[in-house]
Parts: sequence; structure tokens; C-alpha cells
Amino acid sequence: MYLDENNKSELIDLIRELVKIPSYYTISGGETKVAQRILEIALAEGLDGRLEEITPGRSNVEIILEGEEEGKTILFCGHLDTVGIEGMDIEPLTAYEEDGKLWGRGTVDMKGGLASMFYSLIYLKRNKIKIKGKIILIGTVGEECPNNSDGAYNLRKRGKFADLAIIGEATNLNIAVAHKGTMSLEVEIKGKAAHSSNPKIGDNAIYKAVELIYLIKNDLIPKLEKKVHKLCGEATLNVGMITGGVQNNIVPDICTFSLNRRYIPGETEEGIIWEIEELWSRLPYNNEDMSIRTLEETENRIPLETSENEPFIADLLAAAKEAGVVSKIYGANYWTDGAHLRLSGIPTVVFGPGDIKEAHAAIEFIDLKQVFQGTEIYIDIIKRICG
Ligand SMILES: [Zn+2]
Repeated sequence: MYLDENNKSELIDLIRELVKIPSYYTISGGETKVAQRILEIALAEGLDGRLEEITPGRSNVEIILEGEEEGKTILFCGHLDTVGIEGMDIEPLTAYEEDGKLWGRGTVDMKGGLASMFYSLIYLKRNKIKIKGKIILIGTVGEECPNNSDGAYNLRKRGKFADLAIIGEATNLNIAVAHKGTMSLEVEIKGKAAHSSNPKIGDNAIYKAVELIYLIKNDLIPKLEKKVHKLCGEATLNVGMITGGVQNNIVPDICTFSLNRRYIPGETEEGIIWEIEELWSRLPYNNEDMSIRTLEETENRIPLETSENEPFIADLLAAAKEAGVVSKIYGANYWTDGAHLRLSGIPTVVFGPGDIKEAHAAIEFIDLKQVFQGTEIYIDIIKRICG
């Protein structure tokens, strides 16, 4: 065990400080304020670091603990933003402590995990624990909707800049090696307007859309239910919105509907669009009468899949065991920034304190016992891989 009572109370203070800086979508510059505060603390501790502006006024933070010899590079990653605070049933931004938990927006998703990873670097630096290689902590902007994970997407351009990555999202200290991707599409069907007294000279866009939706429901969805990933479960599709027409006595010339697809490792964005195009091609209508657009907030939200046989996963299991935690390997049912890192060729898992059930909820909290265990495990995994 590494953390003493003083370390634990410092760690609680660190989480509270980050939670007190609001960083949800409608707060301009909130993420950057969190990034700046992390950088200030890191520099005061003698760590290296910098901000990287991703879009105007919004910056990732990068903290580096450099070893004295060559070795592996471990990347810790977590997002700086949170969802909003409307409708919360608790005080959202004080991060008060009660019943062995910290309560407030962003405690579990994911300033608690981010602070745990950050504190592991502070601990190693302060205690002059020698490492080989390098530990990088990156706090990213824009992971939560309606953003497009800009911070992590931007890291793709660096290629494989680490040997392994851990996303500190809440997994109850289990190891998620896979999760689904998500993609929302808007489908527009064109027809031709006419007066309802003579509908035959028009071309009813609503009827055409309904035919396509019928095929989605009765042909495509049953196929998706058979596409099952052993950790992520089945691929899914939901048609969630439809609009069309102007008034009852006009044949509608446009009908638009949107759908959300949760897709499994092995499926691609191109393939998902092709599925809809293929259904349309079975109907007796022109290709040009149907168009598909990906809704921006779900662009590039690809799945994650990392082999369970990556050697560092055995180290992570051993580190967890040492901290008294029995971790299991599983597929998460939510999306993370890890998908982008995986696409850069970095073996990536999701591993962090807290329960994702409490994220985005009217009551959000993180269990402090898990925070301390998680931090112990982060310190230990660094020692095992870079020690
Ligand atoms: Zn999150």
C-alpha cells in the first residue's frame, strides 16, 4: 500500500478542487480552466506539462513524468468536461464528502478517475521513485455530448505515441477491453408536393419513408440482433425521430427521420450507411430521392477492441489483486475516448474507480474506497511496467 492518510486527504481535496471548476458544455472555457489548474499543480510538483489548444479557447492538458532511462510509455487519459447540472437533486459543484463518498457533477464521470491518475504521477515524483520510460497524462476536451470528442480525436495525428493506454472512466475497477461505437444518421426522403384533391400527381415522401422504415424494422434489425460480439453483445438500431409534411391537404415533398446505431467491433461507419442504401435500392424509387447524413456529434465514435492477451492486462490484474480488488475483463456499455487511441495503434483499456451507473444522473457520486484503490493500482502498474 502506498497512500497514507495525508495522501488520501490530499487526493480528496484534488477531486473537490476539480469538481468546483464547472466544465460542462454551456460554460465557456470551463474545460480549459480545469486544464490550467492541473498544469499549475503539476508544475509546482516538478512535473513537466503543457496545454494544447484543440479548438479556440479549449485546451487539452498534458502532464509528463519522464524516467531516467529508456523504457515504455504509458498513457493515462481522461476527459475534462462533464454533462450539465440542470435537474440535479444534490448540490452539484461543491463535491461534499458524506458516507465515504464524494457527491457532485463530475465526481464519477470523471474528475475522480482523472485526479486518481494525476495523483499517481505526483506520488511517484515526490517519492523520487525511479522509472524507465515515460508516463503521460492527458486530460481531453469535449468527450461529452454534444461534443465530438475533439480532444481525443486530435491525438490520432500523433500515431502510436505510447505503448499502452488506460482510460480512467468508471469501471468499478474492472478492465473494459471493448465497447461499442455509436453513430446517428439523418435520412432524408424526397417526393413531390401536390394538392390533396389530386394526390396522384404528387409523390408522397412520407409513404416512401415508411416503406424504408418498414424494411429497417423487419429486415435489418433482425439481422443486427444476430451480430453479436462476445463482450459487447449485439448491434442495435433505433429509429428515434421523424418529421415530414406541412399540412393535411398537401402531399408532402420531404420526410426526414433519424436513427441511432450502436455498432460492434468489426463494423464500420461506411458499412452502416451502406446497409440503409441497400434497403433503399430494393424499393422502386430513384437513388437521388434518398440521402443520408451523419449527425456531427457522433462522427468517429468508433468501437474499442483490445486483445485480452496484451501483456499489460496481466500486470493490471496483478496490480488490482495486490490492492485487494478482483477485476474482471468485460465489454463496457458506453463509449469512451479510448476508441481513438486504439485506432492509433495503442493497446487501450478502460479502467477506473466508481460506478458508471452514477454518471449523468440527478445524483452523482464516487466511492472513496475505490478512488484510493484505483490510485494504488495506477501507481503499481507504473512500477510494474516502467519500474
Ligand atoms: Zn465519461
